[in-house]
Formats: sequence, structure tokens, C-alpha cells
Amino acid sequence: MFRICSIESMERIRLDSINDFARQGYLVRVTCNACGNVSDRNPIELMRELHERRISLAIDTLEHRMKCAACGARQAIIRPKFPDA
Ligand SMILES: [Zn+2]
Repeated sequence: MFRICSIESMERIRLDSINDFARQGYLVRVTCNACGNVSDRNPIELMRELHERRISLAIDTLEHRMKCAACGARQAIIRPKFPDA
């Protein structure tokens, strides 16, 4: 028996907001495009923090809002980090 794994089903998982990361069980990996500083955030904690500050959970918005602690640049790239099994 073979199961066909289509790319299509992968693409159906959309990560448009921190909410989606939480639902998929991914960590939020934030990489600074300026200095390469990497930090992994728990999406649940991040959501709580964003709610308190009334900031949108949308990835697009966040990438512009997040400031690198190391170099101060606002060039964050947000990607999913798959938790180690
Ligand atoms: Zn940086």
C-alpha cells in the first residue's frame, strides 16, 4: 500500500497568523534579516503578548513590528519551527 503525499495538502496549511502556528503546534522562529539573530517563540505566549499590546496576529504585520534585540533592525522574517520530536 502506498499513500500519495501530494504537495497540495501541504499548501493547504496556511500560516498567515500566529494563531495558525499555535494550531499546527509549530514554534515561531524569528530571524533577523540584518544580523542573522534567531529566536524561537512559543506562539501561545506570543499571542498573549500581542493581545496585551493590541497588535495584530498577522505575520505580515508582525514582521514589520518586531525589532531585533541584537542590532535593532526591523527586518524580521517569521518562519515555522517544527518542534523536536
Ligand atoms: Zn538583528
